[in-house]
Amino acid sequence: MGRVALVTGGTRGIGAAISKALKAAGYKVAANYAGNDAAAQAFTEETGIPTYKWSVADYDACKEGIAKVEADLGPIEVLVNNAGITRDAMFHKMTPEQWREVIDTNLTGLFNMTHPIWPGMRERKFGRVINISSINGQKGQAGQANYSAAKAGDLGFTKALAQEGARFGITVNAVCPGYIATEMVKAIDEKILNERIIPQIPVGRLGEPEEIARCVVFLAADDAGFITGSTISANGGQYFV
Ligand code: NDP
Repeated sequence: MGRVALVTGGTRGIGAAISKALKAAGYKVAANYAGNDAAAQAFTEETGIPTYKWSVADYDACKEGIAKVEADLGPIEVLVNNAGITRDAMFHKMTPEQWREVIDTNLTGLFNMTHPIWPGMRERKFGRVINISSINGQKGQAGQANYSAAKAGDLGFTKALAQEGARFGITVNAVCPGYIATEMVKAIDEKILNERIIPQIPVGRLGEPEEIARCVVFLAADDAGFITGSTISANGGQYFV
């Protein structure tokens, strides 16, 4: 019987590719999302994967949503913290609200989701937590002080929790995607994308969501137990740590 995996933001973009790849690898998958019901419905029709709506920025909603997933599918053994948003602005124009929204979703969301699941993973002596950070958390990006801070925070969280989980059979790792062809990136002005961003990527193209999903399936596996506190950079050669 496949292990139970929960993917936040698992209905669109990179998260949808992760949900599908985990299902194909034999996991029982639940996909969370925030508000786009139409996309979630289309995703379930296409994949047969059940979807659950709540915001990862809301701790009580996370606890409630997780309890529902566990009642439906069983204890969550693989958690993929993928949900993320951008609210880009140069720092002198960034509003406190833009700062807070990004931190609440992209950083505090990891606490909100992992905290209720963690005790069960400790008791069962098995767990996989995989956090989707970003190249911009590694190198920083102008116009994204909020996002870069949150994504760098995700890496600190990953390394600290890896140390706490190690003797309980729980691994905690991060994946740092470069620029991937999802709606988040397609929202960038086409001229900037073609003239400024793609020329900085040595492989000469955007990444595909499936190329990130591949990293997640690798880290989720039972025989990946010696890999913890690590970061996989999947960025087409754009940045080496
Ligand atoms: P998309 O915008 O394509 O999809 C985002 C998903 O996250 C959607 O399912 C959305 O739900 C969900 N989501 C957003 N906010 C919340 C919330 N508060 N609670 C629950 N779910 C939420 O994003 P991508 O696929 O591009 O990005 C996925 C992850 O990868 C993010 O963490 C992003 O920062 C990271 N990343 C992306 C890169 C890229 O190039 N695309 C590069 C590096 C990192 P709904 O459909 O309801 O809106």
